[in-house]
Amino acid sequence: MTETLLDVKTLKNYINGEWKEVDETTAVINPATGEEVVKVPLSSERNINDAVEAAKAAQKEWSLVPAPQRAEVLYQVGNIMKGRKEHLSKLLTLENGKVLEEARGEVQEGIDMAFYMAGEGRRLFGQTTPAELKDKFAMSVRAPIGVVGIITPWNFPIAIATWKSFPAIVAGNAVVWKPATETPIMAYELAKIYEEAGLPKGVVNVVFGTGSSVGDAMVHHDDIRVISFTGSNETGSHIAGECGRQLKKVSLEMGGKNAVIVMDDADLNLAVEGILWSAFGTSGQRCTACSRVIVHEKVKEELEQRLLKEMKQLTIGNGMDETVKVGPIINDAGMDKIKKYIEIGKNEGAKMLAGGHELTDGKFSKGNYFAPTLFTDTTVDMRIAQEEIFGPVVSLIPVSSFDEAIKANNGVKYGLSSSIFTKDVNQVFKAQRDLDTGIVYVNAGTTGAEIHLPFGGSKGTGNGHRDSGVQALDVFTEWKAVYVDYSGKLQRAQIDVE
Ligand code: NAP
Repeated sequence: MTETLLDVKTLKNYINGEWKEVDETTAVINPATGEEVVKVPLSSERNINDAVEAAKAAQKEWSLVPAPQRAEVLYQVGNIMKGRKEHLSKLLTLENGKVLEEARGEVQEGIDMAFYMAGEGRRLFGQTTPAELKDKFAMSVRAPIGVVGIITPWNFPIAIATWKSFPAIVAGNAVVWKPATETPIMAYELAKIYEEAGLPKGVVNVVFGTGSSVGDAMVHHDDIRVISFTGSNETGSHIAGECGRQLKKVSLEMGGKNAVIVMDDADLNLAVEGILWSAFGTSGQRCTACSRVIVHEKVKEELEQRLLKEMKQLTIGNGMDETVKVGPIINDAGMDKIKKYIEIGKNEGAKMLAGGHELTDGKFSKGNYFAPTLFTDTTVDMRIAQEEIFGPVVSLIPVSSFDEAIKANNGVKYGLSSSIFTKDVNQVFKAQRDLDTGIVYVNAGTTGAEIHLPFGGSKGTGNGHRDSGVQALDVFTEWKAVYVDYSGKLQRAQIDVE
């Protein structure tokens, strides 16, 4: 399978439009089968320095290319991705494990982003405003920042890269991108697409390697003026500290502890469908995954029974099989973390209704598989209801009122996504006001972003920036205020005002 999908056995860095070999490599493992898929370079600081030098040189010219022309490259990128959607999706499943249907959705997100951000080439709106003095013109414009560093996680290896790199380049920046070592194939494929689309050399550079070497070198490089990071809170907080000391702009998208609220008037069929998709899709390894269900006590038992019935129908296995709904866990560390939280939940007194164990027999023997797990009678303060597990584990928290439900949702350190199932229009509007997350869903689960809306979270999920949507441009541009005085005399603002 790998041989027919991939044209190389070892990936190379893409620096200044050239494919560069690196001596040291490590294996990329298919989490569904345990087989080696490809080898990925373990680059060094020297490779980062080369990439930044190339990016710096390329950015000067790229920033002078009119934005609508920069956008033409993105239209090309979108077209190539569209033509290659099935191929990219299969490669994505191969390296990441998510089921093909979801891989196709992720690639589509990248395609949508290409066309959306290409449109920005003809907008990149600033503002014109009246000036307070006669014969004076005032406006604000977006200016590119220079070389931007992009660091991405393994769970959405192509979508997140497009959320970050497309706005960066349409705004006139050059990019150095370090993808996660677990999932480098999407980065290799996207670099090839940039090359074919005619992006000038050096505008996007891809350097493979670990976070502690390559990522760290990017964070500390003087000529990288912005770091856009998605990943864990642990890494993100560390990067934020380092960037803070250097006065470097940093955008962080990190973890979540997302909840679905099910009120007593909810359409339970719909709620069950939404919970299954949000909790067990991508095997719970989405930052927006539902890992808490806050349920009104009047419908708690019925919801439990319906969930248990439907969970039995979930096919688990290799995501390449179109009938599979729940794929593997990314690696051993991911499995260990899930197992640890199962024990924590049991010790805390939560009641386990289903799952809670690794799958190892027969077709599961070579990959990393974990049974979809349901805890109930969980309380808000338990660790399984507070900490990110990143696996197919969901905990039911019973509540007795709308206000209690909102309080439970908001009582965690994260603020990424939330959802409420109810038919009461008053509750809908109160909920969208009071839920303290960056994304709120009504009568749908906690997952799925449309690319023209801002994506990101409040509180411990981020630091106030957003990926995707027009808001993503704020990460990769500086606002410049421009005044043109055509009075022919020195006019002083605030002083010479009549
Ligand atoms: P991670 O371990 O923090 O890694 C993310 C990226 O950071 C990887 O490319 C990693 O490189 C790199 N990295 C690690 N240490 C670094 C350092 N010291 N300096 C610079 N870079 C470093 O996170 P993950 O396990 O890949 O991803 C899962 C997490 O991402 C979850 O918490 C999830 O909620 C979050 N996530 C958030 C969003 C969102 O938009 N809010 C979206 C998706 C995922 P290597 O792995 O190659 O070493």
